[in-house]
Amino acid sequence: MRAYNFSAGPATIPEEVLKEAQAELLNYQGTGMSIMEMSHRGKEYTAIHEETIANIKQLLNIPAGYSVLFMTGGASTQFALIPLNLLGEGQTADYTNSGAWAIKAIKEGQLLGNVNVAADCGKEIPTRVPAVDELNLTDDAAYLHITSNETISGAQWKKFPEHKLLIADMSSDILSRPLDVSKFGLIYAGAQKNLGPAGITLVIIKDELAEQCPDTVPTIMRYKTHIANNSLYNTVPTFPVYILCLVTRWLLAKGGLEGIQQQNEKKAAKLYATIDGTDFYTGTAVKENRSDMNVTFRIANHDLEADFITEAAKQNLNGLKGHRSVGGIRASIYNAFPVEGVDALISFMKKFEAKHS
Ligand SMILES: *Cc1c(COP(=O)(O)O)cnc(C)c1O
Repeated sequence: MRAYNFSAGPATIPEEVLKEAQAELLNYQGTGMSIMEMSHRGKEYTAIHEETIANIKQLLNIPAGYSVLFMTGGASTQFALIPLNLLGEGQTADYTNSGAWAIKAIKEGQLLGNVNVAADCGKEIPTRVPAVDELNLTDDAAYLHITSNETISGAQWKKFPEHKLLIADMSSDILSRPLDVSKFGLIYAGAQKNLGPAGITLVIIKDELAEQCPDTVPTIMRYKTHIANNSLYNTVPTFPVYILCLVTRWLLAKGGLEGIQQQNEKKAAKLYATIDGTDFYTGTAVKENRSDMNVTFRIANHDLEADFITEAAKQNLNGLKGHRSVGGIRASIYNAFPVEGVDALISFMKKFEAKHS
């Protein structure tokens, strides 16, 4: 039996995708080889690489003038590459601090240039993201960096700020809802939350931005190198791209991002309704910013939380422990997380409450 896996990442991958990968694992399309044993420049892998880029462009309706890149080092490496490539000497970059992931991005920016924290609600409880009209922006900032979904706190931007160069860490909500990519200069996401396995980072970048990178930046750390080489400057992690290809096909078959958004909103709404229906549970994030991906909550009597997590695991509901830095309970319900698993959690929550009140 497959577990209901509420882990924040690496996270659930669609079962259909895993089964297809399993069926093709030893012998990819009659070649007698696994896709992971083949050249990253051969015809089989090239077809996968191109299809994955095309599917992502289709899903997000990406306009001309942008590149879709597969990079390595996780979203954490992007924290450094962004200022290395885009924060010129004497310039300032604006960052919003909405929580743990934003802070990590800010710290890397501060190592490499001037950073203005345009809004800071990173330590507030209930958790939230800044309001668009609360930002204290620098004139002529190199860029504005936001974290579209704070995976740990469970707070998500619902309406994005306007900026001439908006950069977003979308690691935990990329491809969960339709997006106007033209409003962004750069979007990045580690794959292991909502895209597929760990090992690749998706980057969507406006090509013209990449040109300003100083010549002192090592070749492999320049976005323009990866654009010019179609993400094949060095050996791309072929197997994670292959799984991402299958995930993008799965999303297209589900009606694209409108389809998946509807399903995501429904799943999250049910869970939040259960939390709001009683004083036994309390949501961690303010209502306007509640994440559709990471549903964070507390039990009024915190002492019961460890019990909740252990008992849930016995019922096949895994990975509900909140991040070690904040505690509490977190149900990560990304695109691939089945609605039946949400129903099973709700039913468990009601029983647990009845037993303890
Ligand atoms: C998980 C996560 C990261 C870190 O990703 P890595 O791939 O481990 O570097 C960064 N930002 C957000 C929002 C995340 O959820």
